[in-house]
Amino acid sequence: RRSKSIGLPDAREQTLVAVKPDGVQRRLVGQIIQRFEQRGFKLVGLKMLQVSEELLSEHYCQLRTKPFYPGLLRYMTSGPVVVMVWEGHNVVQMSRTMVGHTNPTEAQSGTIRGDFSIHISRNVVHASDSLEGAQREIQLWFQAKDLLDWDCCDRASTSEI
Ligand code: UDP
Repeated sequence: RRSKSIGLPDAREQTLVAVKPDGVQRRLVGQIIQRFEQRGFKLVGLKMLQVSEELLSEHYCQLRTKPFYPGLLRYMTSGPVVVMVWEGHNVVQMSRTMVGHTNPTEAQSGTIRGDFSIHISRNVVHASDSLEGAQREIQLWFQAKDLLDWDCCDRASTSEI
């Protein structure tokens, strides 16, 4: 008899995670992806790009008046980024926990920033900070057609093989 699947509530929640230029340059992309995979989240979008100032000024629209904003633009355009959409139960909040405090000085060991960075202006990774923020950022960085839905290979029936 087939057992019932144990789907979680809000299993389709999505968030945007980006490996910033320093993370790409320091060859951390694989380790960062691995953390999200091993936690149990599902990768539904992924691309590498050199970001434009236009896109960044939309992405960081709430920070435009901050003193660190010009430096943030220079940092984020200093090389390509790898941007991803991860899906799963509570992924927005859990990604923030996995990424750690904005300032690596305060980020706990075991978090991405706590393990891989030492300065707030080179903190390796981005993750959306709220459900609304995640929806806004996903729409900004990805076209709907580039987010892919897929099922696990062990769910295929023999007739499909
Ligand atoms: N940032 C910075 N100096 C600061 C505060 C922020 O360089 O004093 C940069 C840093 O890269 C940070 C990004 O601006 O990740 C966005 O800041 P936010 O407060 O949104 O933090 P986050 O959501 O990335 O943790």
